[in-house]
Amino acid sequence: MSDTPGPTLFSRIVAREIPATIFAETETLIAFADIAPKAPVHILVVPKTEQYANVVELAAGDPALLAELVALADTLAAEHSDGDFRLIFNTGAGAGQTVFHVHAHVLAGDLKEGSLG
Ligand code: C5P
Repeated sequence: MSDTPGPTLFSRIVAREIPATIFAETETLIAFADIAPKAPVHILVVPKTEQYANVVELAAGDPALLAELVALADTLAAEHSDGDFRLIFNTGAGAGQTVFHVHAHVLAGDLKEGSLG
């Protein structure tokens, strides 16, 4: 599912059509710096498939991929910070989700005022 017709914003990052600072890429996932960081470390971890709009759909449709995503978030937090991190999935427009291609916000360090991903 997509918020606009055609590939989602994150599929366009996977395809290198939109630039991003990429920290990790596997067969199934990509991780890159959030363009508007809300904490000293703010990385998005995104399944390459755009078939899941949010974490509820991902958990129901491919729990193993969700587990891979969490493991990659943990690895990145260890690489980029002291290993402690927040993992946030904004779910639904009312909760601040703007890109309807499931993604986790990995946040480490002090959050900017009023920010939760
Ligand atoms: O949870 P939400 O859907 O709001 O998250 C989308 C995130 O994608 C935002 O934090 C925004 O800063 C980020 N973004 C990005 N690169 C872009 C466009 C948006 O990292 N080119």
